[in-house]
Amino acid sequence: MPLVNTIEMFEKAYKGGYAIGAFNCNNMEIVQAITEAAKECNSPVILQVSAGARKYAKPVYLKKMVEAAVEDTGLPIVLHLDHGADFEICKDCIDGGFTSVMIDCSSRPFEENIAITRKVCEYAHAHKPYVTVEAELGTLAGIEDEVKVEHGAESYTKPEDVEEFVKRTGCDSLAIAIGTSHGAYKFKPEQCTRDPKTGKLLPPPLRFDILEEVSRRLPGFPIVLHGSSSVNQEYVDIINAHGGKLVDAVGVPEEQLRHAARLAVCKINIDSDLRLAMTAGIREHFDEHPEHFDPRQYVGDGRKYVKELVKHKITEVLGSNDKI
Ligand SMILES: [Zn+2]
Repeated sequence: MPLVNTIEMFEKAYKGGYAIGAFNCNNMEIVQAITEAAKECNSPVILQVSAGARKYAKPVYLKKMVEAAVEDTGLPIVLHLDHGADFEICKDCIDGGFTSVMIDCSSRPFEENIAITRKVCEYAHAHKPYVTVEAELGTLAGIEDEVKVEHGAESYTKPEDVEEFVKRTGCDSLAIAIGTSHGAYKFKPEQCTRDPKTGKLLPPPLRFDILEEVSRRLPGFPIVLHGSSSVNQEYVDIINAHGGKLVDAVGVPEEQLRHAARLAVCKINIDSDLRLAMTAGIREHFDEHPEHFDPRQYVGDGRKYVKELVKHKITEVLGSNDKI
């Protein structure tokens, strides 16, 4: 099976009450970990590449690695551009064989966001085969590669804007802001409450009222959540037990994401959790085997941890297992 776009995947996910995991990849081990996990869970999957990943690994390496994963697993896989900042990077990816792109002009004025998104949609949809386009309304706080929004400068999606935006742009899916955030420090301590028993931070709940109003206005239309790592405590603890120093890292609770996946959310983006799992595996390995110097040994442990994490996400959070 060649790379696919998101249309059929999202239709099935919407009807089936689950979401597809969109995992960011930067190197071979991450691509292998994600796709081997998806294979073992019999799950469709989206591999996404940011501008930062393109700089780090070069677009051609990422594309060929993802093609290798398709050949190796036989899974339906989408190759998606994460946070395309302008028409040019989207065009470059479409021309280069991506099957889906995100144009993110969410920090620009409404009319400008519409104009650029529409231009990308016209180009992507005229491409053969059809390339799907994700757009964004509302902005998330946090840092993701080159996307940086200060806490306090984020804005929730206004449900009253979504029908006009989707109609005028022709986008295939829409990322909305309901309180998720990029990075491993999603919320400032003052936004959270502290669990008196464990001392851990508890984040503010997601705005499900916005999600429900958006899906009421756009029936059947696939919604995307960015910044949806949960910063699983077990990995933070491993990192900190082996020389790391992640203080008050906090993510979106998994049960809230599971709830969103049962509603209109068809794509959930996970990046920071992969980074944490990879780091936990490598730190633990170095600490336990100070005599090792073969990268296959420690990066291999990182890969093992990422794979376990992706399997957990697919079966316990996304619900996309056994959907092929
Ligand atoms: Zn994002």
